[in-house]
Amino acid sequence: MKNLLNPFNLSAPFNNSSSGLSGWISKSDKVITINSPVDNLPIGEVELTNEEGYKTLVSKAQEAFPIWKAMPAPKRGEIVRQFGDALRIEKENLGKLVSYEMGKSLQEGYGEVQEMIDICDFAVGLSRQLYGLQMHSERPNHRMFEQWHPLGIVGIISAFNFPVAVWAWNSALSWVCGNVCLWKPSEKTPFSALACQEIFKKVLKKNNLPEGISNVIIGDSDIGKLMASDPNIALVSATGSTRMGKSVAETVGKRLGKSILELGGNNAIIVTEKADLDTAIAPIVFGAVGTAGQRCTTTRRLIVHKSLYKGLLNKLVNAYKQLRIGDPLNENNHVGPLIDSQAVDAYLKTINEAQKQGGNLAYGNEVLKGSEYKSNCYVKPTIIEANIDMPIVKHETFAPILYVFSYETLEEAITIQNNVPQGLSSAIFSMNMQQAEMFLSHAGSDCGIANVNIGTSGAEIGGAFGGEKETGGGRESGSDSWKAYMRRQTCTVNYGNEGSLAQGIKFNL
Ligand code: NAD
Repeated sequence: MKNLLNPFNLSAPFNNSSSGLSGWISKSDKVITINSPVDNLPIGEVELTNEEGYKTLVSKAQEAFPIWKAMPAPKRGEIVRQFGDALRIEKENLGKLVSYEMGKSLQEGYGEVQEMIDICDFAVGLSRQLYGLQMHSERPNHRMFEQWHPLGIVGIISAFNFPVAVWAWNSALSWVCGNVCLWKPSEKTPFSALACQEIFKKVLKKNNLPEGISNVIIGDSDIGKLMASDPNIALVSATGSTRMGKSVAETVGKRLGKSILELGGNNAIIVTEKADLDTAIAPIVFGAVGTAGQRCTTTRRLIVHKSLYKGLLNKLVNAYKQLRIGDPLNENNHVGPLIDSQAVDAYLKTINEAQKQGGNLAYGNEVLKGSEYKSNCYVKPTIIEANIDMPIVKHETFAPILYVFSYETLEEAITIQNNVPQGLSSAIFSMNMQQAEMFLSHAGSDCGIANVNIGTSGAEIGGAFGGEKETGGGRESGSDSWKAYMRRQTCTVNYGNEGSLAQGIKFNL
């Protein structure tokens, strides 16, 4: 499997001199070995960057910024277009590496790279549409308008579960907006990041541009903390747990810096008595077990009208029995492994605790053993019948555990759905227009994403992605999310021969 890395000319064990990744400085005695959750084999060793290496990268980014921001936005878009084309060529190689390093299915590994290609296309178009408004001035012979300027260095901190796509969402927009990027991927998935840097590095080289436009730093939370506290990082875009987000928000807040926070979810699907169950089953199951329950948008709670409850639960248990769990690179399998043994411990602990709190185990609760499971990270997706008084249902456990609730009125279902600290993704299955519109209204879902007759999991790049409450409030990807990556400037020009003050103030000398 190690030869999955070869297409990117990365050598293992990886170090600065052998890889030649000049955007990646490793000066540290701290070396970690990355093992694949698929088969527990080592992918390679990677050095964690220390403070000195961090500072070197920041100065490389600072040197590149004036060159990059001086390029007209559509020309920057052209570089991003070339990156998208390079990703098209590398889609299979990179998708396999993502799948092997993270443990998601091959289809999802390819899907992640496709998402990178899509956001590049979006960013190319955007590079000609960084529009500011023009306003009518209240003063005669004055023109008032706003314009958008680059920020500087955008620091990107990303989570293990989307090793490459989240970076692409942030970096493609950052680049067309005129920023340079410093990316700290999860220390659990560094090689997918290094491969991305290698692909983009070639594009930069071909266009005679400095590599400091894109920098990758391999490090753990200490480097993330350094980024959060560093006033040289104009914007910190952090994706990960709510615990991490609170720490980043506090540190960035202290220096009045800017941040985008994309944090944990606790996503629910409501199935009303007017639902078409044939449409609902596949999205529920995919939402709950896809990526082994390790998506921020994973369906964690299912809120079912009491008239359908027993029937739907039986259908779900039957569907779960059909799931093929195993090597995610084998396309016949539906569910791959969890990322590591800590994640397996969290899965077991949560199920145990849920049962103690009164939950009824309907299916699952098993770590899979046997020759077909080449690591100890394969678990059975689990279904627990739950009630709203169980404190554990308010927590996100990053594993395939689905809590099922019964309800009587739609108002009650919406209360259950909203009564958690997180607010990322939500969905309703109903063929009734009033129910669907109620769910989408101000009295309905309080989440950043609200879907009708599709599940909670996965999103198209065209929309703004993010969530409310402890999910952090940030928005990335489509719509007008680009505005967070630029600074707004309001300009007023007096083209007349007389000065005049706003609000009609007279000031005669
Ligand atoms: P994590 O919080 O453990 O780590 C995420 C990243 O933050 C890593 O790069 C890590 O090194 C860094 N980090 C950790 N503590 C830090 C600190 N105090 N300061 C700065 N950086 C720090 O998360 P994870 O286990 O990698 O990913 C799973 C979590 O990410 C889940 O909660 C999931 O819901 C969330 N997530 C959210 C989204 C979203 O868009 N809302 C997307 C993907 C994942």
